[in-house]
Amino acid sequence: MAITGSVSVIGAGTMGNGIAHVFAQNGFKVMLVDVSPAQLDKAIMNISKNLDRQIAKGAATEEQKKAALKNITTESRLHEGVKNAELVVEAATENTELKLKIFEDLDRYAPANAILASNTSSISITKIASATGRADKVIGMHFMNPVPVMKLVEVINGYATKKEVTETVVALSRQLGKIPCVVNDYPGFIANRILMPMINEAIYSLYEGIAGVQEIDTVMKLGMAHPMGPLQLADFIGLDVCLSILHVLHDGFGNPKYAPCPLLVNMVTAGKLGVKSGEGFYSYTAGNKELVVSSGFL
Ligand code: NAD
Repeated sequence: MAITGSVSVIGAGTMGNGIAHVFAQNGFKVMLVDVSPAQLDKAIMNISKNLDRQIAKGAATEEQKKAALKNITTESRLHEGVKNAELVVEAATENTELKLKIFEDLDRYAPANAILASNTSSISITKIASATGRADKVIGMHFMNPVPVMKLVEVINGYATKKEVTETVVALSRQLGKIPCVVNDYPGFIANRILMPMINEAIYSLYEGIAGVQEIDTVMKLGMAHPMGPLQLADFIGLDVCLSILHVLHDGFGNPKYAPCPLLVNMVTAGKLGVKSGEGFYSYTAGNKELVVSSGFL
């Protein structure tokens, strides 16, 4: 089984536009679907800007940019957007009820042999698959942000995912120039199972007054060669997203070691969500990753 033609991407936000970009750049016909026409317009603008960035770095040519943009069609009606898909990659908002509804619809409207993949960071693939009548063709395809730059694709096998489906998605990921890693469907998969407890521990270190924001991040950057400290990374990911993934780990394993730090809970409740809100552990001009100044937690 090989994917040769048409791919539908559901959700045109941060991840959806990156996923559409990478497929289109590798010659696939992409149908980019979002309920919000404004998001679709914004996604095409972002893809065009990101292709310009690649051109400036010598990683793409003007012709390749034109060809990639030509490969993308936008659509706001899901049933229209998936009717010819060989593969659907869902990258809509991280909300279980929403994803279950989307997969129910994908099962209804996508061709019966289409593979249905989710880019979810933390929701069970087995649960998502249960909303369909084709659990053997449902799989996780977890790209990293920013998609055109990051090499990893975490390929997540649901309880019923067929071996041929995994093989197809692994081969496809390589075709996109990515490195696939196959993992089984347990809370947080691998990436967030390891990353989120580290971020939570960094927040606990701050909460317990062991060190300030700068010190914690500097120790991890200089001592462990991490390109970015865990608190700044949490700001980039979104503190609300970190909190919801920790809840998934805590609920899924029933182990108190995953309990979110009370400081994280308070910050999210207060609307301090990191880059997207303009303040988290550091201050930003909202939506801009440039640091303005370190926050008052020092
Ligand atoms: P986002 O909020 O930037 O974009 C979500 C998009 O989904 C929005 O444009 C919204 O209009 C659209 N949407 C909502 N309901 C829809 C529906 N019914 N049909 C079609 N579109 C719909 O979110 P994001 O950061 O791109 O995250 C998307 C997915 O990717 C989530 O599952 C998230 O966990 C996962 N993910 C995110 C990151 C990250 O760093 N942001 C990394 C890896 C995985």
